[in-house]
Amino acid sequence: MTYQSVNPNTGKTLKSFEHLSSAQLEKSLATAELCFKTWKHTSYAERAAIVAKAAALLHAHVDDYAKLATLEMGKRINEARGEVKFSADILAYYAKNAEAFLAPTKLHPQVGEAHMESSPLGVLFCVEPWNFPFYQLARVAGPQLMAGNVLVVKHAGCVPQCAIAFEKLLIDAGAPVGAYTNLLISHEQANRVVDDPRVKGVALTGSVAAGRSIAARAGQNLKKSSMELGGSDAFVVLEDADLEKTIPWAVWGRMYNGGQTCCAAKRFIVLDSIADKFLAKFKTALEALKPGDPMVEATTHGPLSSEAALLQLLEQVDNAVAHGAKLVMGGKRIDRPGSFMQTTILTDIAPDNPAFRDEFFGPVVSFFRVKNEDEAIALANDSDFGLGGSVFTKDVARGQRVASRVDTGMMFINNLDWSDAELPFGGIKASGYGRELGNMGIQEFVNKKLVRTAQLDAPA
Ligand code: NAP
Repeated sequence: MTYQSVNPNTGKTLKSFEHLSSAQLEKSLATAELCFKTWKHTSYAERAAIVAKAAALLHAHVDDYAKLATLEMGKRINEARGEVKFSADILAYYAKNAEAFLAPTKLHPQVGEAHMESSPLGVLFCVEPWNFPFYQLARVAGPQLMAGNVLVVKHAGCVPQCAIAFEKLLIDAGAPVGAYTNLLISHEQANRVVDDPRVKGVALTGSVAAGRSIAARAGQNLKKSSMELGGSDAFVVLEDADLEKTIPWAVWGRMYNGGQTCCAAKRFIVLDSIADKFLAKFKTALEALKPGDPMVEATTHGPLSSEAALLQLLEQVDNAVAHGAKLVMGGKRIDRPGSFMQTTILTDIAPDNPAFRDEFFGPVVSFFRVKNEDEAIALANDSDFGLGGSVFTKDVARGQRVASRVDTGMMFINNLDWSDAELPFGGIKASGYGRELGNMGIQEFVNKKLVRTAQLDAPA
């Protein structure tokens, strides 16, 4: 398969790109390795000038980048603008804070003195998904370039124009050739990159299947990896939740980015006493969304990223119903050009229904009623995933207690404000390991070296 840029609003192919030849791939890896030899010796100030310039360029051309994302993967234009601005903020954040994050830290041994130093590992291979075609790249490029690493990046097959635009952004900002290289490569070529001795670490964001394959390969090569994989996050509504505030978060949490977000609210777990009221209001709010061209500001429901994504989601919903789930609304493709899915609510999902464990990557709500708080927590934890989750209640202390008992990498109380440059992002269980963003994100691919000084005689 080549890289195909297809507008999911129309189904029209915009551009196609061939995979790199073996010789081109070899040249890219050699150039990256050569670049690392000098990049690792640049000062934080020199790196920051380039990374901050990239942030400024993103800010200056928000519309151009946003339109590209909307064209290639159907993100609504307002959301695309938000993504581009946030990507710029992430770059600027690391330009400003990397030196402090990676400064030597003093240790206190009983004898002599000791400290930890941080040094870059080398060429990193990043594999990224289409759902946030710029943010995902900024999330690795900002910290890792500032840490002194260089990157070779395989973006998803459906967003080649975004991938190329981000590489050009860094070159325009003054990054030396080889500091950030976009690779249009196949899965088989990606395996070869993981195996290549010049590559020192691997970061993947994507599905569990991709994570298993690439993490296993990295493991065989004894290379450090980080995995940001899927999720099936619980949205827990306790009986005292303020529905006026909770319903808009439920809609946003499920429908933002067309429902195609790893940490989207996917399983709605509502206490029985409030469940009917919640479900009725949620349904009404979802019915109000209007499908349309994602390039038009007023559109509130865009297409899925591709026809293949739509077909997969339709099959999952059909399968859920075949196994006994009930459809409260939706369940079909929308009768219009493009890859549009109806907003859908499924209830009565029994534990033996595949839908109980699957991730629904689109506008499909899985709705569960529970008797009490303990049942809500038990159901939230009955998942192969462990990315994020949320709790809605007027009692914040209670919300925090519930959050502490849910086994995920991130929990949100009375909000779904998922991602900030300052806050670590990532999960546990099948949602992967490692963290991106914040101080933790820049520590993933550096050598933490102990240096101990003590004027001692060797033991006899
Ligand atoms: P995907 O199929 O796994 O694709 C993600 C990336 O991995 C793409 O670049 C893809 O390339 C590549 N890839 C897939 N299989 C591969 C293999 N065997 N070898 C090498 N590369 C491989 O994921 P998706 O379905 O497009 O993206 C959605 C998934 O990502 C969801 O599960 C979502 O929850 C997850 N996600 C997680 C996070 C997070 O931070 N935890 C963030 C966003 C998305 P091709 O496109 O060429 O196949």
